[in-house]
Amino acid sequence: MYERNVSQIEEIVKKQNEWRSSTLNLIASENVLSNRARQSMGSDFTHRYAEGHPGERYYQGTELIDEVESRLKKHMKTLFHCRQVDVRPISGTVANDAVFSRFIRPGDVVMVNSTPGGGHISHHRAGSVGKYTTNIVNFPLTADGFHIDVERTIELIRAISPTVLIFGKSLFLFPEPVSELAEICRERNITVLYDGAHVLGLIAGGRFQNPLKEGALLITGSVHKTFFGSQRGIILSNAGENEWRKIDKGAFPGSSSNHHLDTLVPLAITVYEMMEFGQKYAKQVIANAKHLGKKMHELGMKVAGAEFDYTESHQLAVDVTEFGGGDEVARHLKDNNIILNMNLLPFEPLENVTNPAGIRLGVQEMTRFGMKQTEMEVIAELFKKCLIDGRYVGDEVKELRARYQSIHYSFDQSVVEV
Ligand SMILES: *Cc1c(COP(=O)(O)O)cnc(C)c1O
Repeated sequence: MYERNVSQIEEIVKKQNEWRSSTLNLIASENVLSNRARQSMGSDFTHRYAEGHPGERYYQGTELIDEVESRLKKHMKTLFHCRQVDVRPISGTVANDAVFSRFIRPGDVVMVNSTPGGGHISHHRAGSVGKYTTNIVNFPLTADGFHIDVERTIELIRAISPTVLIFGKSLFLFPEPVSELAEICRERNITVLYDGAHVLGLIAGGRFQNPLKEGALLITGSVHKTFFGSQRGIILSNAGENEWRKIDKGAFPGSSSNHHLDTLVPLAITVYEMMEFGQKYAKQVIANAKHLGKKMHELGMKVAGAEFDYTESHQLAVDVTEFGGGDEVARHLKDNNIILNMNLLPFEPLENVTNPAGIRLGVQEMTRFGMKQTEMEVIAELFKKCLIDGRYVGDEVKELRARYQSIHYSFDQSVVEV
């Protein structure tokens, strides 16, 4: 009786595959798996449970799962030059919660990036941090809005005595001043956490700050944004055994029981792609983002951060107030086969969240499909035609995208079947 419904779901999935392979995907938090990573999904791992650590599981039959997980952990440590890793959090938010639950006590003062300043919902009072304390104070920003003001942060630290600083954000153009604030944090025994969800692949490729080297106790992250793995989370650290035990318990049993083994396998494949191609990939991503920013700016769009070469990451922020605001513009672009999201810009009131001034772009996925500076110029033109000249560019977008259908920085660059 319900078989028809199953066919309908299958039809929807097919449509999604076709539609998203014909669009310019510029959502900054997304990426694509390589063919081999993607093909590894749907194995028997999909069905299994593996609580605890390899070799110390609670269930039988996990030997081969253990082997994959151990290899993944070993090579994540190599890639990030660190001693400790937990690959079990099932997303970046779960990784954050595993950590925040262990380091933030009721009443603690915690400093974070504000939401308009780019901060993630899990750092907010409505998210994970807010479950443990209500004393959440935003980092002061410099006048451009995209950098933490170090001097004023030091004054604030002296005045309010935070116990935890959480660096990292979702609108993330430039590195955080981790090394600049490391000394005062050491003196005052402040725990420094770094949420690298967005920039993890750039850190892996050696093209963004290395927070562990600069003084952060640990990095949390998603492994599917600039790090082009399956949708999961991670915790990386050089913490000593005692401190790490705390974090370990936060991951399991604190915030999960089983971790999702179907997504473990593609991540174990992705780590080798990152080791082999990560440096070239990260370099091209950042070069593309800078170039797209420059070209869009030259063509008359209000790209943020012009005085800092627009960005040091995969992202750009553009003020689109003159075209109707972020919500309207993002919808209009979607109708032209360009997919991205609206975004609050620094200093905007939170009430603007449903139609903020900005849009956020990320070039990592299109870079993975082989686009370089030349293609960024074409994309800048498409934005101009669409937003400034008011023309429909949906067909031009499809034509462009049709030529970029294989996934670079991977071991199998045959065209992705849809
Ligand atoms: C995306 C993001 C996360 C977590 O995302 P998940 O969707 O849970 O993987 C955490 N922190 C920041 C800053 C992010 O941008």
